[in-house]
Amino acid sequence: MESPSRRSPRPDGVPHPDRVPRPDGVPHPDGVPVPTESPVPTESPIPTESPVPTESPIPTESPSPVLMESPIPMDTGSGDTRRSRTGAVTAAAAGRTVGVGLSVESRDRVCEARSPTEDSLWNNAPEEALMLQLRRAVQEVVKQSSWWERRGEDCCILGAAFLLLPPAFLLLGSAHLPGLCAGVLLMGVAHAVITIKGAHLASHGGLSQSRAWARVWAVFFIEVCGCFPAQAAVQAHVQMHHAHTNVLGLGDSSLWKLPFLPRAVYLFVAPLALPVITPLVALAHLRGRGAAAGSRTVAMMALGLLSQYWLLVRVSGFRAPGALLCMLLCRALFSIPYIHVNVFQHVGLPVFSPSRRPRRILQMSHGVLNLHRIPLLDWTFGHSLISCHVEHHLFPFLSDHMCLKVKPVVSRFLMEKQLPYQEDGYLSRLRLFYRRYQELMVLAPPITELVGVQ
Ligand SMILES: [Zn+2]
Repeated sequence: MESPSRRSPRPDGVPHPDRVPRPDGVPHPDGVPVPTESPVPTESPIPTESPVPTESPIPTESPSPVLMESPIPMDTGSGDTRRSRTGAVTAAAAGRTVGVGLSVESRDRVCEARSPTEDSLWNNAPEEALMLQLRRAVQEVVKQSSWWERRGEDCCILGAAFLLLPPAFLLLGSAHLPGLCAGVLLMGVAHAVITIKGAHLASHGGLSQSRAWARVWAVFFIEVCGCFPAQAAVQAHVQMHHAHTNVLGLGDSSLWKLPFLPRAVYLFVAPLALPVITPLVALAHLRGRGAAAGSRTVAMMALGLLSQYWLLVRVSGFRAPGALLCMLLCRALFSIPYIHVNVFQHVGLPVFSPSRRPRRILQMSHGVLNLHRIPLLDWTFGHSLISCHVEHHLFPFLSDHMCLKVKPVVSRFLMEKQLPYQEDGYLSRLRLFYRRYQELMVLAPPITELVGVQ
């Protein structure tokens, strides 16, 4: 199947001849090489996803949303839509400007202004009617769930990943190829679980109800294990990607795009460089931070890198070059699917103007896609990044297990309300992006307007 199962037509792309990659980031989990998410609240508590501001509730029995693509010409080649080096986006169409220019600094300000805490997500007063109904249904499921379901199972999976490390180091010292391969596999799986699933949950503050412990886990999983500044990760993933999902110039996943790379290189070769690129991008993110905060982050990242290197030398018996090579190999083992899922679940779906963004439930149901369940990726990356991504974007503070548990409630609700519930297979998306790479990953997306339920 080439396109995801959904009721609304997908907008087509608009050529963007001179698109410049955004200079500020590396993709973090779900966002990114650890993947893109952000800070540990040195200054502020770890925010959870902020709801899109709404003006008035939508009727419960709302008409089916109608997707109306913006009148941006299909292939002007004249550069009507451009992104500047500062991240500014303007789109001139049919004699009017439909996009909004936003500098990186402006984006940061918007993001700070629209990032409520987890509590406010549950107690949001002027919440849209549909979202409120769904929230109550999900809250009911959460209330009836045990601690094991809410946090325990995911914590146990993370603990199991750490338990894989001792046998992995020992197997990596094997003189025989099968043992060595088993060691690489174990180490790669453990690293993916810890730095993708663990860092993602930690970026959302999902590993502890205590804010202090949530900060500790964010620093540990994102900085020590993932080698990326927790603050930058939380800002990129939680405050931008989640709060402004598929909003042009804000959370439109454009930092994942490298339009100068050929499709085969982007999809199958470039991701292997993530273990090298991530620390370099991390250092770039430290510019402008205070000396104390920057030094702490560098120390945490160095602790993670050096401890793995030391164990490979002392326990596995590698010499210096071999230890480095082994680190890169294990850290790159899941980097290809990591990049793929970050791209597949948002790019190519409706993109919205910052000035005419839809209500939250429409934004997420149109701008997020679930991949069909893939056991290996579901358990290493977490359900919220694979088969429950829609649920995760609607309720980002739920754990992976809880996202899986509320999935039937969310899918049934969206389908009953005639809203999209988009799902597609990994290979189907891969074929789609390979065939339409130019349109989806190089050219600027058109702005989508939702008419009928606004
Ligand atoms: Zn997330």
